[in-house]
Amino acid sequence: MIAVGIRVLKFGGSCLKDGDSLRKTVEVIKNAGKDIVVVVSAVSGVTDALIKAIDEALESENTVLGNIRSIISMHEKVLSGFPEYLRKSIIDKIVEKFSELKRYLYGVAYTQELTRPVKAAILSFGERFSALLLSAVLENEGVKSKACEADDLGLVTDENYENATALIDVASRNLKESLLPLIDSGTVPVVTGYFGVTRGGRVTTFGRNGSDYTAAIVAVALDAEKIELWKDVDGFMSADPKIVSDVEKLDRLSYYEAAELSYFGARIIHPRTFEPLLSKGIPVSIRSILDPSFPGTTITPQGYIHERVIKSITYNRSIGVLRVHGPGVGYKPGVIAQIGQALSSSGINIYSILTSQTSINLLLDKKDIRRAMEVLSPLKEGTITALTPEEDIALVGVVGEGLMKRKGIFGQMFSRVAKKGVNVEMVSAGASEVAYYFIVKEKDLDATVQAIHDWMIDR
Ligand code: ASP
Ligand code: MG
Repeated sequence: MIAVGIRVLKFGGSCLKDGDSLRKTVEVIKNAGKDIVVVVSAVSGVTDALIKAIDEALESENTVLGNIRSIISMHEKVLSGFPEYLRKSIIDKIVEKFSELKRYLYGVAYTQELTRPVKAAILSFGERFSALLLSAVLENEGVKSKACEADDLGLVTDENYENATALIDVASRNLKESLLPLIDSGTVPVVTGYFGVTRGGRVTTFGRNGSDYTAAIVAVALDAEKIELWKDVDGFMSADPKIVSDVEKLDRLSYYEAAELSYFGARIIHPRTFEPLLSKGIPVSIRSILDPSFPGTTITPQGYIHERVIKSITYNRSIGVLRVHGPGVGYKPGVIAQIGQALSSSGINIYSILTSQTSINLLLDKKDIRRAMEVLSPLKEGTITALTPEEDIALVGVVGEGLMKRKGIFGQMFSRVAKKGVNVEMVSAGASEVAYYFIVKEKDLDATVQAIHDWMIDR
């Protein structure tokens, strides 16, 4: 069996958004040669449509059929321009698969209840449809191919239904066993991204944009030589072109840099993609179906220090701060644990914690702040004296290997920001070797990011 030289090509929803992007995707796969595995996301918009179908089913069962029809038509749209017989046979297969999904949705409507495993099972259908669709189109183009569903392959995970972690040893064994014979026989497996299965056979998901994580698991399992994440952008940039002029494309990043950039800001790659890869060091490149000859950004375990040190600036408008006040919270052991416990049992994610002697500052999703205040208010009996939310802020991050070692960088950077009249509110240093985060008022965000970028380019 060949266990070397395998490449994993993952295609995001933007590669499957209309007939044109599907055609480009098929071209990339055809040109990729032998020994490849394809991983797919759902057709663009389908996961959102499934979430909407669930929400509406909880309100009324009369919504189910309409939502099913619109999801089917999203797949018809992607097949536009493809031969009628092919469209029809694919849509027939999707409709057939829908009978199971339909039962789930009526079940939700009937019981007015949604359990986490049922939600995960419903959300997995987007990828089941897209894998079926892409594989059928490939076959029609003369590429031997097979749609493979992650649960059938045995991509085993823990039981965290919304943010599962693969059990790498078992999953690897199963994936090898099921995928290698296909690859050896010259077939291109098209694997569903985004979900896995518990040992007990229930579907789990990897969180939004989780198909990248699937690609990493498959690559690790097969000892792949590299991973290509295909999208419709040229990779990482020095800043978001939507708010900064003269951005530059980045050709190389380290795992840590890319993970930092993804965790808070750029939606280019799922931040957990690198977890399974660390042990093997498989390189990942971000490629664009709009310009397949452009090499994009290559991400490797080894970092290097750029002459400017900072490689990219990122930001996040949807993060807010909840300040937890109380004399001594900073040094009383157990307070952070209590807070963490209370929030995580309500499903609220803490992005980061900054402490001082008299306050603990929690970085949360803005949408979670009010709920977090309710959850934490019983703790006010004890150590905590007040909870103050800050919602009109944004988080800015600068990322680059060597950041913490170079003297003078932050002084220069913040003086450029101060010249724009912007007040920097809170700074986090030291948690990561390659990233530095701070907070500004949301209204100052664009000016701040542009100022830092100008300074970075001038250096
Ligand atoms: N389809 C899922 C989502 O939209 C997973 C993915 O696209 O990677 O979040
Ligand atoms: Mg997606």
